[in-house]
Amino acid sequence: MHASTATTARLDVQKLLSRRAQSIDASGIRKVFDLAAHLKDPINLSIGQPDFPVPEVLKTAAVKAIEENRNGYTQTQGCPELLAAIWKRLGGEVGWHADPAHGLSAIVTSGTSGALVLGMMCLLDEGDEAIVPDPYFVMYPQLAALTGGKIVLCDTYPDFRMTAARIEPLITPRTKAVLINSPGNPTGVVLSSRELADIVDLCRAKGILLISDEIYDEFTFRGAREGGAFPTPARFTQECLLIRGFGKTYGCTGWRLGYVAGPHDIVQSIAKLQQYTYVCAPSMAQYAAAHAFEIDMQPWVDRFEKRRDSVLAAFDGIAKVAMPGGAFYAFVEVPPSLGLTATQFVEKAIARSVLVIPGKVFSTRDTHFRLSFAAKEETLAKGLGILRELMLGH
Ligand code: PMP
Repeated sequence: MHASTATTARLDVQKLLSRRAQSIDASGIRKVFDLAAHLKDPINLSIGQPDFPVPEVLKTAAVKAIEENRNGYTQTQGCPELLAAIWKRLGGEVGWHADPAHGLSAIVTSGTSGALVLGMMCLLDEGDEAIVPDPYFVMYPQLAALTGGKIVLCDTYPDFRMTAARIEPLITPRTKAVLINSPGNPTGVVLSSRELADIVDLCRAKGILLISDEIYDEFTFRGAREGGAFPTPARFTQECLLIRGFGKTYGCTGWRLGYVAGPHDIVQSIAKLQQYTYVCAPSMAQYAAAHAFEIDMQPWVDRFEKRRDSVLAAFDGIAKVAMPGGAFYAFVEVPPSLGLTATQFVEKAIARSVLVIPGKVFSTRDTHFRLSFAAKEETLAKGLGILRELMLGH
C-alpha cells in the first residue's frame, strides 16, 4: 500500500480478537501484583518456583550443549539421551518401559504446560468434558477456552482430596478425562495409593482417561510417601497419561521442560500437535536434563519439609491448614471469625508488605490464601509472624 493511501483509522483490535482469547481472564493474579507493585521490599510468599539455583551439573551440561553447537531442532519426540533417561527413571520407579508395540510411549514437551495444553487438545472436542479439582492450578479452567471443551470443577473442600467418590457424580456421557494433581497446587495435598487406586478403577470402569499432573512428584515429604515412594496411579495402570516436569524439581522453570508418558496412540497425537506448534522442547535444556535424574535433590526436599512444619506450627490453633504432604504451598483458611473474604485479608497482608495469593485466583471460593514456602527461612518467619498478627486481630 502506498503511504498516501494508508488510512489513519486505528485497527479495531477488540473486533479482531477471537472469542477464545477474549474469554480468558487473567485479572485475578494481576490484581494481586498490581496491589503489591508499590511495595519496595515485599515479604514475598507468593512465588511458584523454588528458591534454589539450578544444580551445577545441569548448568554445565546446558552450556556444554550450546558450546558444542547442539543448538538445532531435536526430534519432536525429544532427544534420545533424555528419552532414555526418562525411561530408565520410569522403569525403576513404576515399572513402565518404552514399548510402543504394547502401548507405551513418551514425549518431551515445552514445559508441563505444553504437555497439558497439547494433551487436552488431543482429547477434547467442542462440548467434551474434563473433570479437574477445585482449587486448581490456574491453567486448568482455561483449558476450556483453549480447547473448546468444558472443564468441570470437582469441589474438594475442606480437605482438598480429589477422591473417586467426589469425582463419580460429575461424570457424564461427555466426560473424556479426569485430571488429578498430587502433590497439588495450591494446597500441597498428596493423595494416597488407596485413593489413587480407586480413581484408576473408576476411570477404567467408565472408559475415561486419567491424567496425572505430577510436576511436584520429587517434592513429596516423608509423611506422604508410602514405603519411601511417591504415590502415583502409574503403579496401578499403564492406561493413564503421566505428566511430569523438570522446572520445579531443579529450579529451571524458565527452561520450559516437561514430559508425558502413557498410551502410545495418545502420545503420538500429542507428537503430531507438537510438530505443528512448539516443534520441540528447548534443545539445550533437553541435553542438560538427560543428567537430571542423577542429581540428589533430597537435601532441598528435607529443607522444604522443615519450612512446611514451621508454617503448620505458625497457624496451629489459629487457622485451618490442610496438611501439605508435598510441593511448597499451604492453602490457609482465613479464620471465619474475622469476617473477611480471602481477597480482603490479602489486601491487609499486602498493606503490611506480605505477599500471598487469595484463594479466588485458584478457586470458585474466596475463603483461603495460598502461601508459598519457597522462600528463605528468615523471610518465611517474618511473613508468618505478620500473618499470625493479622489473624489475631493485631
Ligand atoms: N502443573 C502445575 C500443578 C503447576 O503448578 C505448574 C506451574 N506452576 C504447571 C503445571 C506448569 O509448569 P511448567 O512451568 O512446567 O509449564
